[in-house]
Amino acid sequence: MGLNFVLSNMHNLLGHFRVMVMVALACLGLLSPPEQAYSDEYTSSCVLVMNGQTPALIPVSVAVAWIKKRVPVVEYGSFLERLGMHERGDEDAVCRVCLDCIKGRHAIRELSNCCHVFHQECLDAWVDEGQVTCPLCRSMLLPAK
Ligand SMILES: [Zn+2]
Ligand SMILES: [Zn+2]
Repeated sequence: MGLNFVLSNMHNLLGHFRVMVMVALACLGLLSPPEQAYSDEYTSSCVLVMNGQTPALIPVSVAVAWIKKRVPVVEYGSFLERLGMHERGDEDAVCRVCLDCIKGRHAIRELSNCCHVFHQECLDAWVDEGQVTCPLCRSMLLPAK
């Protein structure tokens, strides 16, 4: 009788303890993998960007708008001039999106995180697909700050 009582009490105690552990794990997010907390749709429509020093998860549509607003459009010729380079007829840069030449009068977007150049419309089309990195080197298109 006495032993039975102790055993059933132990059982209750263990059951109670188990529930406590389950609750604690659930609270810590360990019970279900964190990935499952976000639907695929959510993660695929958001991008991680550095907002100053802080990483932020923002919707792709917002990132696209930021890129178009913050990445300056310049004429390729004046871009080269500013860099102290001059357009040389037979050494035109090639836009790796459309594989066409980039001429001095063409508009480009001046990327701040790498030195690749693309036609403005080619980069915009790329960005419109939800891409937020350089097509060549995968640097973030958004300026770091
Ligand atoms: Zn192009
Ligand atoms: Zn690049």
